[in-house]
Amino acid sequence: MFVKDYPLALVTSLGVGGPADFFIRARNVQEIVQAQRFALEENYPLTVIGYGTNLLIRDGGIRGVVIQLAEPFANATVKGNQLTATTGCLFGSLSKLALHHSLSGLEFAVGIPGGLGGATFMNAGAYGGEIGPLITEVRFVQNGCEGTWNREEFSFSYRSSRLQAEASPTIVTSVTLELKPGDPQIIVETMGNLQAQRRSKQPLEYPSAGSTFKRPEGHYVGPLIEQAGLKGFRIGGAEVSTKHAGFLIKTGEATAQDFLDLIAHIQQAIFQKHGVSLEPEIRIIGED
Ligand SMILES: Cc1cc2nc3c(=O)[nH]c(=O)nc-3n(C[C@H](O)[C@H](O)[C@H](O)COP(=O)(O)OP(=O)(O)OC[C@H]3O[C@@H](n4cnc5c(N)ncnc54)[C@H](O)[C@@H]3O)c2cc1C
Repeated sequence: MFVKDYPLALVTSLGVGGPADFFIRARNVQEIVQAQRFALEENYPLTVIGYGTNLLIRDGGIRGVVIQLAEPFANATVKGNQLTATTGCLFGSLSKLALHHSLSGLEFAVGIPGGLGGATFMNAGAYGGEIGPLITEVRFVQNGCEGTWNREEFSFSYRSSRLQAEASPTIVTSVTLELKPGDPQIIVETMGNLQAQRRSKQPLEYPSAGSTFKRPEGHYVGPLIEQAGLKGFRIGGAEVSTKHAGFLIKTGEATAQDFLDLIAHIQQAIFQKHGVSLEPEIRIIGED
């Protein structure tokens, strides 16, 4: 069932990070429950990941069990205005499924990499939209048992959700979103415009984990970093993108430590120059 010492650099968009002791790419809810029960019985920590597009995994890797929900766990249905999908579905693909059914509300998701599970955990969003307000039901596995939260029980805020505060590891298995009927012509046009903006502003040709820092109130991260003269600044193979200073990119060989050092350097420089504390948006996990 598990692969031992699996190199997690292979399953993150940044392409850095050490191994998982026990790794499984789950195909169904039964395997998810089994994996979580195994971790509980053996007293191993459990970590869930999606497509690893928002992760910086440290070079020592992750102890215990790492469960990935990705392509083999991807299934979506649409009934009326409700779109229900398992969390291995690519979030961006769901916006195309919604378009296919003339449903509006998910246009903002086109071009956001990663899966529905990661998007729910992070309350992913872009260009004024976010997933949180669309969610009507979240199904999950916690302590080896299945459970459900309805809309009122699932709280979220900017790049945060109830999942980030749960005491026990909680694996979201499927999510229902409520959308609105829309004009496919307008939906497709909006999606095209958003994708074009993304391509023109983001360094999509390099490995990255997206925006590294959360937007501090009253500021934009890119200009803060640029004004501190850090565009293009690098440590090892980790570099501040010259296209969008809010993105850290991997150029050539890089370690997770290069990125950790670069993040610390930027935080210190921005605090000194602007008096602003930058909080990472990316999830930094694992051991040094
Ligand atoms: C080029 C680029 C552009 C990006 N643009 C955006 C953007 O515009 N807006 C935005 O919000 N984000 C953006 N991101 C960040 C990222 O794509 C999103 O946060 C995405 O939703 C993460 O999904 P993932 O499957 O990769 O999650 P992962 O990175 O694998 O995991 C992220 C977090 O979610 C948790 N998680 C994942 N799956 C589950 C699950 N099933 N149950 C419980 N917890 C889970 C993990 O434990 C982890 O803490 C961008 C990233 C890149 C590389």
